[in-house]
Amino acid sequence: MTGPVYLDHNATSPLRPEALAAMQPWFGVPSNASSVHGFGRKAKAAVEEARELVALLAGADPAGLTFTGSASEANNLALRGTPHGRLPVSAIEHPSVLTTARELGAEIVPVTPDGVVDLDALASLLADGEGAALVSIMAANNETGVLQPVAEASEIVHRHGGLFHVDAVQGAGKVALDMAAMGADMMSLSAHKIGGPQGVGCLIAAPHVMLAAEITGGGQERGRRAGTENVAGIVGFGAAAEAARAALADIPALAALRDRLEAGACDISPKARVYGGEVRRLPNTTCLMTPGINADVQLMSLDMAGVAVSSGSACSSGKVSSSHVLRAMGATEREAASAIRVSLGWTTTADDVTRFLEAYAALVARALGNGAPGKSATQPEAAE
Ligand code: PLP
Repeated sequence: MTGPVYLDHNATSPLRPEALAAMQPWFGVPSNASSVHGFGRKAKAAVEEARELVALLAGADPAGLTFTGSASEANNLALRGTPHGRLPVSAIEHPSVLTTARELGAEIVPVTPDGVVDLDALASLLADGEGAALVSIMAANNETGVLQPVAEASEIVHRHGGLFHVDAVQGAGKVALDMAAMGADMMSLSAHKIGGPQGVGCLIAAPHVMLAAEITGGGQERGRRAGTENVAGIVGFGAAAEAARAALADIPALAALRDRLEAGACDISPKARVYGGEVRRLPNTTCLMTPGINADVQLMSLDMAGVAVSSGSACSSGKVSSSHVLRAMGATEREAASAIRVSLGWTTTADDVTRFLEAYAALVARALGNGAPGKSATQPEAAE
C-alpha cells in the first residue's frame, strides 16, 4: 500500500532529519541558556550558533536576531514594539500581521489582480498623510506564492522616512533572502515552514530600529523577549536553516515538479485557473481554482485518496472559508470558494505529483462528469 502524499508545506513542512538529530541531545538535559554554570554556557553557545545559522539563511546580521515562540509573535513584536504613527500593510498579509495591524489602526494597501502589492497606491498613500509610517509587506504570499516587490516598496517607504517590515516566512528556504538587498528594517521567519520544529520563530531588526519588548521579565534575548529560551527548538531552527540553505540548489527541480502539476491539472480541467500564474511566484506553490467544485469537496476527495492539500490560509485551523487574499485580488466569493492550495517541499517526489493528478482527475470526473456526488459538491455555473 502506498502512503499518504503531503502537499501542504506552506502550512507546515515535515521536520527535517537534520533538525531532529540536532534537537535530540537537548531533551532531558538541564539547559537554561542564562545559567552561568557549564550546562548553561553550553546551551548559550548552542543558541548563539543557531542564531548565526538562521541569520545566514536570511542574509542578515545575527546581532539583530531575536528568537520568539513563532512568526506570529515576531510579527506582533515588529508591529507593536516599534514606535510609529501610521501603519500601512498590504491587503494580503497573513492574519498575524493583518489582524494585529487592524487593532493598531492599519491602512490597507491594495494588490493588483495578479496578487502583487500596488506600489503606486503605496506611494500615494505615504505621500498623502502625516507622521512616520511603519509599513509591513510580505516577501511571498502564503496562499498564491506570489513574490512581492519588497526592494521597490522599501525604496518608497524609506523615501518617506518610514520603517519597513517584511514577513519573509514563506520566502525562506524557497528563494534566496538578503535582508539588506530587500531593504528590510525588520524581518520575520518561522522554523516550522523550513523543516524546523513548531513553536519557534524570530524577528531580525537592523541596528537603527528601536524595538521594545512585548513580553517583559528577565533580560533574555538582549532584553527584547523575556522567557527562558527554547534551546532544543532554537537548535532545531538553526539546523533546519542550514539544511534549507544547502537545499536551495534543489529548488529548480522542485519548480519543475510544481510546473508539471499545474500543467497536468489544467489538462484535466481546462477551465481551471492558477492564481498569480502570470507573475513571479514561489517555486513550490499552486493556488488552483476549479470552477464549479467547492474547495471543501476537493479537500475531502483528495484526503480520501490520501493526498493532503489545503484551501485558503489553512495554517491555523481546519476551517474552509473563502480567502481574503483571493478576494483582494478581485476573485468572486464563488471563485475564491473553489480554490485549493497545493504546496510542495523538501519531501515531494515525482510520484507525489502523479498521485495528486490521479486523485484530482478522479474528483473532477466525479463532480463534473458523472453527476454531482452530493448536494454541496458542485456549484451552479457562476453568475457573477
Ligand atoms: N506569516 C506567514 C506568511 C505565514 O504563512 C505564517 C503561517 O502560519 C505565519 C506568518 C505564522 O507563522 P507561525 O506559525 O510561526 O506563527
